[in-house]
Amino acid sequence: MRKTLIAGNWKMNKSAAEAHEFVAALKEGFPQTEAESLIAPPAIYIESLIKETEGTDIQIGAQNVHFEDEGAFTGEISPAALESLNVPYVIIGHSERRELFGETDEDVRKKAASIFSHNMTPIICCGETLETREAGQEKEWVSGQIRAALEGLTADQVAQAVIAYEPIWAIGTGKTASADDAQEMSAHIRDLVFEIAGKDAADQTRILYGGSVKPANIAELLEKEDVDGALVGGASLDVTSYIALLNGG
Ligand code: PGA
Repeated sequence: MRKTLIAGNWKMNKSAAEAHEFVAALKEGFPQTEAESLIAPPAIYIESLIKETEGTDIQIGAQNVHFEDEGAFTGEISPAALESLNVPYVIIGHSERRELFGETDEDVRKKAASIFSHNMTPIICCGETLETREAGQEKEWVSGQIRAALEGLTADQVAQAVIAYEPIWAIGTGKTASADDAQEMSAHIRDLVFEIAGKDAADQTRILYGGSVKPANIAELLEKEDVDGALVGGASLDVTSYIALLNGG
């Protein structure tokens, strides 16, 4: 049984006061849910939000990391530093990182390996542009991203990894892939994991869907066999909406 993961990616949003208000309200209103909860705030809030959520079911993750442990990398976040804060999950390969900050498949591969070596779990993002989908190349494209990201990992690591399928044309556009599209790609990714790391890994790896997920559409996505949760941007910024997502819509 794969546990549903509802990961909120706040991106570059919220003041310190807003971040703390959100977490206070989430603690207060945290629902009875089978789902696992994760919030990835801007990095500057990680440490204080981890302290504030100690002893609760709210987990605090990171939106990005460097693959080196330390050194002259101005502005970067060390995986060793995240480990020292007990960060459980790190998002890597988000399409915004790839498009706006030049993150490559090779970077994603190094980051995944480094995250595992620091006892954390990567949430590996993949997804195609509208042009690629219209050209019917989306499966090949996503396969290439996933193969690159998983290269060199052990089968156990692949089993533990989380993969987030986020079609770029659905991110922040209000345009969600249909639940059937999400299922089709998730099944394709699971087949690929099977091919790369075997049956146990394919059974265990969680595959999230992301791209304009909101309380109104999460239920039909989560009903799909191979969709194990959601990576949510916009709708994770509002605490009522995030709680509704944890409740399955
Ligand atoms: P969105 O973002 O939910 O605002 O579309 C999703 C993401 O980029 O992770």
